[in-house]
Amino acid sequence: MATLKDLANLIFPNVNETIEDLEKRYPLRNLEEGSEVTRFAPSPTGFLHTGSLFTTLVTQKVANQSNGVFFIRLEDTDTKREIAGSGKELIDQLSVFGVVPNEGYMGDFEKGNYGPYKQSQRAHIYNVVIKDLITRGRAYPCFCSHEDLDELRKVQEAKKLIPGYYGEFAKCRNLSVEEQIKLVKEGKPFVIRFKSLGNHENKVEVDDLVRGHLLLSENDQDIVIYKSDGLPTYHFAHLVDDHFMRTTCVTRGEEWLPSLPIHIDLFNTMGWKAPKYAHLPVIMKNDNGTRRKLSKRKDNEAACSYFLQDGYPVYAFKQYLFTIANSNYEEWQRDNKELKLSDFNFQFNKMSLDGALFDIDKLKYFSKELLASYSGEEMKEFAKEYAKKYNDELYQLIIRDEDYFTQIMSIEKDKENPRKDYEKCADILEKVKFFYEPYFSNMMENGLPYNENIDKKIISKVLQEFVDTLNYEVSEQEWFNNLKALAVRNNFAESAKIYKQNKELYLGSVNDIAEMVRISLTTSKQSPNIYYVLRILGKEEIARRISKSIEVLNK
Ligand code: GLU
Repeated sequence: MATLKDLANLIFPNVNETIEDLEKRYPLRNLEEGSEVTRFAPSPTGFLHTGSLFTTLVTQKVANQSNGVFFIRLEDTDTKREIAGSGKELIDQLSVFGVVPNEGYMGDFEKGNYGPYKQSQRAHIYNVVIKDLITRGRAYPCFCSHEDLDELRKVQEAKKLIPGYYGEFAKCRNLSVEEQIKLVKEGKPFVIRFKSLGNHENKVEVDDLVRGHLLLSENDQDIVIYKSDGLPTYHFAHLVDDHFMRTTCVTRGEEWLPSLPIHIDLFNTMGWKAPKYAHLPVIMKNDNGTRRKLSKRKDNEAACSYFLQDGYPVYAFKQYLFTIANSNYEEWQRDNKELKLSDFNFQFNKMSLDGALFDIDKLKYFSKELLASYSGEEMKEFAKEYAKKYNDELYQLIIRDEDYFTQIMSIEKDKENPRKDYEKCADILEKVKFFYEPYFSNMMENGLPYNENIDKKIISKVLQEFVDTLNYEVSEQEWFNNLKALAVRNNFAESAKIYKQNKELYLGSVNDIAEMVRISLTTSKQSPNIYYVLRILGKEEIARRISKSIEVLNK
């Protein structure tokens, strides 16, 4: 009489190792009590998604703050969806965000004793476990064709039954060993299914670190564990990999929550202790009043690269993602300005349950704060690195004269509350180009927005006197006092307040004078503090710009 062992040997003739061998090869990790082993398990199917970075940051944090291990495993068993090279690209992108695993798949190489860390290279390990399950009668070959499965679906739909391969519908479950052996020998294509002994009517209890205590319907599905291409499915690979890589805490997107009963069934069947689970919320977007998942196709913000292209500092982006991770992070950071993200104690139970809304304004807030804290030199370096990669026009300006650019970036940095001028590098060019030729001349050609209520001749005269008497080698206060004196000499009030009290006595106020100067030097009514602009442009350039403006006024 043929036995299950014969069947297992027929399907896996070259698999000689046992589960015990694997247990020995991948021993329990020697870590202190409470240390967590976590993993990020991306599929190589495209760019680094903002949601994936979020998951990764949390995953890394949990390991780091418990002196544990954080590793990366590449889940490349879905060969149809794989995009060549994207596994390595993910690793490169993660490292841009400061995420470097302690162990695992590193792009070009692997590090650690629990590998291989690419699922496509682990068939020999999965096969040991499948062979064991077949021998124990807990897995079997299924010869159903696509047509058979379509037919089954239709029957279940018509009867309004739960879809799937289970119980009485699991046709191949009931084949005799002889029949199974015969069909395999005939070369009939097959997959291997797990044989579940569960009952959908029963409940299983699980504690999720984010969602708390859950009562879920037991699994009864005979899921596929081994595909016709010889590779495992996600569920089975999760079982084997997280067991033998000794993961203690699985952090993954909440879309996996419905599959949890399958995973519990698998772990119980093997007699293995399941890891702790944390199903993380999905990042949502407000789309005209409705909340939906950030979409790879529709939303720029779904790709982490978008934030790099716009020149947000990586650190600010990470800070922002931590506000999604823990509701108390923002307050903690505000109260502890000197502390770093690495000092923050992340807790699963402070995570929102219903998906976090992506909030670009909050990201801008963190970014502005961080950029405002940079010195002029740091800002120059940051902008230069950004521009070199993403914005050649800005790069050319920076390298034309790095000291000059640093001076621009230093505007008002010496003040107690430095201005928060920039929220990202992509804003810089537009804000600084008036400092440079030919931008300045081109901008002048678009017209200068002087106040039309003031006679052009008066503006010209004031401007000329401004250059003739200019001295910016004094304090800002003294410089402004001089500007007031210039105003008074020309029949403008020395303050807006005085002007408002007696409008008929004056042509305007010192504010109008400042505006004339500002427009002449920057072509715009808005600019950084003019005292600083003067010091950067220097006497010669100021004189040149003012005389050009007078020319325009006299036309
Ligand atoms: N490859 C799976 C995914 O990308 C991993 C899920 C998990 O972390 O277990 O969704």
